[in-house]
Amino acid sequence: MASERLRIAFVGHVDHGKSTLIGRLLCDTGSIPPDRVEEARAAAESQGRGMELAHLLDQLREEREQARTIDTAQLLVRTVGRDYAVIDAPGHREFLRNALSGASQADAAVLVVDASQGIGEQTRRHAILLSLLGIRRCIAAANKMDLVGWSETRFGEMREAIGELLAKAGLDGAACVPACATLGDNVAARSGRMPWYGGPSLLEALAAIPAARDAERPLRFCVQDVYAFDGRRIAAGRMESGMLGPGSPVVILPEGRVAQVLSIERFASARTIAEAGECVGLTLPEDVPVRRGQVLCDPQDVPRLASELAVRLFWASPGPLRRGERLVGRLATQEAECRVRRIRRRIDSASLDVLEEDAERLEEAEVGDVDLALSPPLVAEAFSAMPPLGRLVLEREGRTAAAGTVQAVSEAKTRGAS
Ligand code: GDP
Repeated sequence: MASERLRIAFVGHVDHGKSTLIGRLLCDTGSIPPDRVEEARAAAESQGRGMELAHLLDQLREEREQARTIDTAQLLVRTVGRDYAVIDAPGHREFLRNALSGASQADAAVLVVDASQGIGEQTRRHAILLSLLGIRRCIAAANKMDLVGWSETRFGEMREAIGELLAKAGLDGAACVPACATLGDNVAARSGRMPWYGGPSLLEALAAIPAARDAERPLRFCVQDVYAFDGRRIAAGRMESGMLGPGSPVVILPEGRVAQVLSIERFASARTIAEAGECVGLTLPEDVPVRRGQVLCDPQDVPRLASELAVRLFWASPGPLRRGERLVGRLATQEAECRVRRIRRRIDSASLDVLEEDAERLEEAEVGDVDLALSPPLVAEAFSAMPPLGRLVLEREGRTAAAGTVQAVSEAKTRGAS
């Protein structure tokens, strides 16, 4: 089983084919058991309709929502080299908010555009959103090429328009792939119907995204859950950066306690080293308290605990954000109350023009530079220095309301490694 896992956000205008494309990728890579696909086909036929991959994906999403463990909570596209965790934003309601909370975790994105419709309003917003969330690597899929007669000319127009949009948003367009999600052209395998196209399939374009080269950076392991297994206590989480092995010393924040890792635990693998980008379990000595939300860090590079953050965020809730409001902030697996101390500026999310300095409120779909006071303090770092600990999501009444990146960390005190 591949242990490297890249998180890919699928974004794009509603109905342009995201669900179908994800379903097609899952099917054609054998990531869904074939009997499962057959079952969905038989069920659809008994209802007098052909199987829609989007329906199959809806079922899988439902199961995923009920699932509890990390591995089944994600849709995984499994390939020999590595796995891709699919981050999607299902449903037509609250689309932006779903996209926001999902995309804020992604390593790269696939922007799906219907070739017969062209770029939609949501396509533009999502491109800007990706850029605000610091997700630079983006593969574009010009989908539904069957509806435009597999036309090279149409694809050329699409590629130019998408290229312009990505450049404007400051995204790095890794590839633009002409695809048909329903029939599978250029999704997991190259298509014979577009001989004029010499570029990669979507899966090849994903494989060409470089691995997170964060292994050389200081260790950050965010504890997601703690399980009891075989009489041992296993802390499961993601290696956001750095490397770990048995005997590695770590500083556990926020407490600041030093401990040594006893073992790295994996499913069906005896590999004892864990590197950036992997989801693994690890064990620590029995007397060391572990819980969700802790961050295990390199003793040579212990980040500060932030009690105040300057963030740039995208506000996506219908009611405006007001100065003084308290929200729940989530940063990696940590959680804190965030009080809005100041809205330094309001920014138009389409043009990125500054609308107002020192504002009282931020309206829906606006971008803001906002100062937040955190309680309790969190392990947070500037996005430019440590992206995984520099992204956060804000929730209002249990629902995602904003996502953004940390510009600066202030009023923080240093935790020693003692
Ligand atoms: P989403 O809202 O972006 O997730 O879009 P869906 O995946 O639900 O697709 C919307 C509709 O477009 C569905 O009826 C799909 O069957 C259809 N669709 C998706 N991909 C293609 C394609 O490549 N060709 C054609 N003709 N239809 C497609």
